[in-house]
Amino acid sequence: MSSLESIYISPLELCNLACLYCYTNKTKSILTNQQILDFVANYQKLTPLKSIIFCGGEVFTLPKFPGLINQLQEQNIFISVITNGTVDKLDQISQPHNCQLIVSFDGPEVIHDQNRGAGNFAKSQAFVNKALKLGFPVEIFYLITKDSYPYKDSLDILGQHKTYLTDRLGSLTKDQVKDIRQNYPCYPPKDFGCNIFSLQSDGEFYGCCETTKSIGNLADPLDQVIQKYLTLNPVCNDPEFRCHL
Ligand code: SF4
Repeated sequence: MSSLESIYISPLELCNLACLYCYTNKTKSILTNQQILDFVANYQKLTPLKSIIFCGGEVFTLPKFPGLINQLQEQNIFISVITNGTVDKLDQISQPHNCQLIVSFDGPEVIHDQNRGAGNFAKSQAFVNKALKLGFPVEIFYLITKDSYPYKDSLDILGQHKTYLTDRLGSLTKDQVKDIRQNYPCYPPKDFGCNIFSLQSDGEFYGCCETTKSIGNLADPLDQVIQKYLTLNPVCNDPEFRCHL
């Protein structure tokens, strides 16, 4: 698969939760559905697009987000949504099997709720349960912090596959980070890096969903932005554009 066939879009940074380990800036900029659809249409004129990963903030707080998913699925684009699993709009998505839900958990209930607020573990677990019954593919993003590290092997969310993320705010020791990166399935994958063509809520494009160095914006000719992305690739080897994962 070409690195351009899968892209990342973050329509907003705002969220309904205020997790202790959150590292997003919570800026107020939001991409409209029309901005995203127009961008996707332009993109597809230049290069084939097979999948979009959506992240935030919490995308399901956007009232018309399920409608956007449905419109994109009609174009045969596979959708993945990174979500905290506390806002249930699952019934509004017309093709569950073509919409992967990547639901974040921070450890067993007591640890998760300590970070995300009381009652949120139960809410997210119920979300996963309902999603599975409706036929959505589900993956768990397991955030490992100093609090969840002791439970790294024991968390089980309805038997679903876990991908591990290490805390960006620095609560883990270097050895703990090394342990997770070497011994567990991680995001980004060990030998792959996380370079991906990314559109963020401020309308800027990036060569990775975590870097802060823009390679252009929605007002720029898209072919030139894509060319710039391709010359940076692989972004993870470029000290100026790399993230800090
Ligand atoms: S759910 Fe995610 S985006 Fe929302 S506050 Fe928690 S870590 Fe941040």
